Amino acid sequence: MTTLFISDLHLEESRPDITGAFLSFLNKNAVGARQLYILGDFFEAWIGDDEHTPLQDQVAKALKTLSESGTEIFLMHGNRDFLIGEDYCVRAGATLLDDPALIDLNGTPTLLMHGDSLCTADVEYQKFRANMRNPQMQKMMLARPLEDRQKMARQLRELSAAKNQGKAESIMDVTPEEVVKTLEHYGVQLMIHGHTHRPDIHELQANGQNARRMVLGDWDKNIWWIEASPGQQPELKKAPL
Ligand code: MN
Repeated sequence: MTTLFISDLHLEESRPDITGAFLSFLNKNAVGARQLYILGDFFEAWIGDDEHTPLQDQVAKALKTLSESGTEIFLMHGNRDFLIGEDYCVRAGATLLDDPALIDLNGTPTLLMHGDSLCTADVEYQKFRANMRNPQMQKMMLARPLEDRQKMARQLRELSAAKNQGKAESIMDVTPEEVVKTLEHYGVQLMIHGHTHRPDIHELQANGQNARRMVLGDWDKNIWWIEASPGQQPELKKAPL
């Protein structure tokens, strides 16, 4: 039975093509899989489980159906949807994962991450991230009226787009030393993450041995996923959106 990994779908109302591709991915690829891991930025924005947009409800229903068919679903926060809470996970039949999460992938210890925490060259973003991940701060944000939060989310997105425009390409990618440090901290040789929108497989050295970093792609022009079957190397796959 296969284990599937996806990330960075950035689901939003203005991209029904991506939602459609996701729903058909569930039917074609995920039904019958043992596990589906969603590694962050599943939604383009999230301001609280109480928003209940038709898109959020439709996606929760589809995931719930998949989980009831026997596929285990795991959800990790990204930098866009870090406010997804337990309530939504229950509606979607999914289990919320910590970032990073260490799993046993068919006998291979594997570290799962969204990937933004590896981009340490972007000091300004890391400060913002620490602030946004502070439980006190999240509690305060979630206590504000829904309309306030919708306005805040719009402003944050504009601000982040403006800031990223002036940033060097290398700053927006992972820091190679941070990758090695993280693999060695957890004593693992395989890491899977998204976030950078640079789908690829990187071979490197960590813990004095060969290691591998598999990067998922964002669902914009293509759909990307990683498929892992027992006894086989996990594969990075893509199909046209
Ligand atoms: Mn991201």
